[in-house]
Amino acid sequence: MILQLEGITKRFGEIVAVDSLSLEVPPGVIYGILGPNGAGKTTTLRIVLGILKPDAGKVSLMGRPVDVDVLSRVGYLPEERGLYPKEKVVEVLTYLGELKGLPHSDSRGRALELLEEFGLRDRASARVEELSKGMQQKLQFISVLLHDPDLLILDEPFSGLDPINSEILRERILQERSRGKTIIFSTHILEQAEKMCDYVALISKGRKVVDGKLTEIKAKYGKRTIKVEFDGDGKALREIPHISLRLYERFAEIETELEVNDVVKFLADRVKINKIERTEPSLSQIYISLVGGEGEGLDYN
Ligand code: ATP
Repeated sequence: MILQLEGITKRFGEIVAVDSLSLEVPPGVIYGILGPNGAGKTTTLRIVLGILKPDAGKVSLMGRPVDVDVLSRVGYLPEERGLYPKEKVVEVLTYLGELKGLPHSDSRGRALELLEEFGLRDRASARVEELSKGMQQKLQFISVLLHDPDLLILDEPFSGLDPINSEILRERILQERSRGKTIIFSTHILEQAEKMCDYVALISKGRKVVDGKLTEIKAKYGKRTIKVEFDGDGKALREIPHISLRLYERFAEIETELEVNDVVKFLADRVKINKIERTEPSLSQIYISLVGGEGEGLDYN
């Protein structure tokens, strides 16, 4: 495991921000820590990075306790962004790369290469404050990549990015995974996580609701929903053995143990089927079914 948390608890006065949280992140995957505002995501990541000390529990990063050596293989994008506003873009990046152990010229070269890749090469000599917020965010992401870390820890990396830049970031995260890197990121936008994550942990009020492989979670908690568009008398659909049914004039959603083929056979003589498909449950459906109203504050889209 690249990261193991065992029974982590962190209190701030009366508030239990993280409550007996255990997680395992295998290497080479994209792992999403998901939950609404205040769920404890940032606190968890800060504990992983040794910024905060847990009140209880154990953290093991790349098989070891968190220390300077192991952290040198980690790239961290904090939730609160901010680089030296008065300094020149390339100088800031070069300096940050040096802090991570790169020699000056390597760091500068790498910074320029990444600026090029992210479409910011012509801003290399601008001051950081002259860049738009989104550009500054890209800059901060570049700073995470400078020393080619094995593990990327990204706190709400998509917040504040427009769709095009979100897509650029997403592509780059996928690329890092294909290079064998591990990416852990937090988000309250479940749809974003759904598109990218191999593994997820859903968190509510500091506690883990469910974690594991996304496909397995879907298989386990997923309702078997079939959507049908049809012409004809919808009454026929009521006769299909079902767990739940939402029936409209020409459309129905059926939760059933039957296969699509069986439903087609059943309906074939009774209505005209225009379209039929099995739909996967979304993560948000699963989250809501597990935590109910506590899912408030999540962006379901
Ligand atoms: P968000 O999506 O809003 O960033 P989050 O899931 O990252 O939320 P945390 O920032 O970890 O949540 O906060 C979890 C809880 O701990 C919240 O109730 C928050 O108010 C509290 N908390 C976090 N940091 C501190 C702190 N330094 N002092 C006091 N309380 C804190």
